[in-house]
Amino acid sequence: MSDRAAIGVDTGATRTRAGIVDERGQVLMRTERPTDPLAGTKGIIAVVEDLLERDADLDVKVECVGVGAAGFVDFPRGAVTFSPNLIYDDPFIRDAVESRTNLPVVVENDANVAAWGERAFGLAQGTSELALITLGTGIGSGFVVNGRLLRGYGGAAAELGHMVIDPDGPECKCGLRGCLEQLASGQALARMGREAVEQDPRSSILSFAGSADSITAEHVARAGREYDETARTVLRRAGRSLGIGLSNVANIFDPEVIVLAGGVVGAGEAYLGAVRDQLVAMTEAQKRRPMRLDVTSLGKDMGIIGAAALALDESST
Ligand SMILES: [Zn+2]
Repeated sequence: MSDRAAIGVDTGATRTRAGIVDERGQVLMRTERPTDPLAGTKGIIAVVEDLLERDADLDVKVECVGVGAAGFVDFPRGAVTFSPNLIYDDPFIRDAVESRTNLPVVVENDANVAAWGERAFGLAQGTSELALITLGTGIGSGFVVNGRLLRGYGGAAAELGHMVIDPDGPECKCGLRGCLEQLASGQALARMGREAVEQDPRSSILSFAGSADSITAEHVARAGREYDETARTVLRRAGRSLGIGLSNVANIFDPEVIVLAGGVVGAGEAYLGAVRDQLVAMTEAQKRRPMRLDVTSLGKDMGIIGAAALALDESST
C-alpha cells in the first residue's frame, strides 16, 4: 500500500529547498539549489521536477505540491502580488507549476506554511490558536486562528514584522519607521551591533567581525555568549522589542502557543530570555492567561513540511 505524499517547497532568500513529505510529516527525499533572485518561479519548478524524476523508488504516491513563497500571496489563486526581496519571473506560481507537473498546487506565504507545519507536526500539534514567528534577516509570521490560516482580504495579513514598535525608530523598507523587523531581526542585530561598537570599540563584537562594516547578527550573538556586556545589551534590547510585539499579538489573538523559528533563535539566552521576560511582564500586568512560548522542533525542514502538509490538507477537503 502506498502512502499519500506531497512535495513541499520552501523558497528562501538564498536557497530554494524542496522535499517529498508523507502524511506523517516525514521528509523522504530532499533537494535544493541556490535561489536566483531574479527568477524565483524557475527555481521552484526546477526543484519540483528534480524530485518527480527521482520519486520512483519511494513507496508513496506524490499527489500534490505545496509552495511557501516570500511575499504577499493571493490565495487560492497562487499568485505573488508583492515581494520586496525576490523577483518571481512568473508571479502566477500555481498555474506555472501545475502546467509543468499536472499536479494540484497550493501556494502560500512562507511564514503561513511554517505555521501550518507547526500545527500539523511540530510543537503546536492539536491547537487551533497559534502564532509562528520566523526570525531571520527579516521577521515573518503566520497565525492559525480558529483552526484556519489568517490570510486577510488580499493575502497581506499576519505581517508582524511591520508592526510599529517605535514610531521614531529606524526607517524600514516597507515605508514606515520603527517596525519590529528593524528592532529585533537579524538585520536589526547587525545594525545595532555596528552602532554599539562606535560607543565601545573594545567590544568583542568588533574583534569577531574584524571591521564595523562586517558585523553580522552572528558576531553579536557570539560576543553575547562570551559575556560581552555591550553585545548582551544589544541582544536584550532586541529581545525586549520582540516581547512587546508578542504582547500586542496576545492582545489581538490570544494564542495558545507562540512558536519562534529562524536563525536568530540561536542568538542565545540574552535574546530569548529578554523576549520571555518582557512578554511575561506584560502578560502579568494585564492578568492574562500565561501563553506557551517555544522554539520550533522542525528545524530547517519547517517550510518544506508545512508546505506539503498544507497541500495535502487542501487537496483532501
Ligand atoms: Zn516595516
